[in-house]
Amino acid sequence: MKVYFIGAGPGDVELMTIKGNRQLHSCSYVMHAGSLINPEILSALPESARIYDTSKLNLEEQVSIYKEAKSADQDVARLQSGDLSIYGAIAEQMRALDELGIQYEVTPGVSSVAASAATLKSELTLPEISQTVIFSRISGRTEVPPDEDLEKLASHKCTLCLFLSIHKIKEVVKKLSAHYPRETPVIVVYKASWKDEKIIRGNMETIADKVEKEGIRLTALILVGAVFNTKDFQDSRLYSKEYSHLFRKKNVSTK
Ligand code: SAH
Repeated sequence: MKVYFIGAGPGDVELMTIKGNRQLHSCSYVMHAGSLINPEILSALPESARIYDTSKLNLEEQVSIYKEAKSADQDVARLQSGDLSIYGAIAEQMRALDELGIQYEVTPGVSSVAASAATLKSELTLPEISQTVIFSRISGRTEVPPDEDLEKLASHKCTLCLFLSIHKIKEVVKKLSAHYPRETPVIVVYKASWKDEKIIRGNMETIADKVEKEGIRLTALILVGAVFNTKDFQDSRLYSKEYSHLFRKKNVSTK
């Protein structure tokens, strides 16, 4: 018996990996993270699959499903949205499985960050503009450690991707405005890769009102940084004629 933690991707069913999908269909128990999982993924499962929405269960109740599957010697697929390594809340599951002596493995998924950047046709790192991306959030039920307060993170003025924060967009821009210039692009991607995806573009001053008007309070990422509004950046050194590396020699003619 084994538990497969599977990144279900951002929404679009085609953005789940082939490996994750194969593992999912090999399990007779399926636990999923509720509304962030596309129902099409679940409706493709055989009728015999036992499906549990974990958003309605506490940790203890979830552990009792693992125990039941163990005594029935049945594999469990555990679907989480996007990629599991970012706000996946899987660490406590794994700790519980370790205590029960249950084996598990993790299959990565396409994060909503990657899906949002794809939708925007943007690169999050541009030479001389920003070479750093911070993934973070504003404090909610889970407190952010004081050293990682948004105002402190903003001092780097790099590309910023904020999860779980859209309902506090006013507070977010207030903290960020301590360091980012007011014309800095702030883009909200709602339900990236879903059919009802929406993109709201603004800056430090305009975005909060725009988001409020759209009534968006869930399932959205806030992306911040100069990379989103500029064509004025240096080409990367990777394809430069003056630059050689392991796989390409300097100035070699291709003729
Ligand atoms: N592990 C997930 C994140 C889970 S935390 C991942 O890699 O994407 C849940 C938060 O992720 C949501 O509050 C929202 O900020 C973001 N999110 C998840 N799916 C999204 C989507 N399709 N579009 C935009 N944001 C999304």
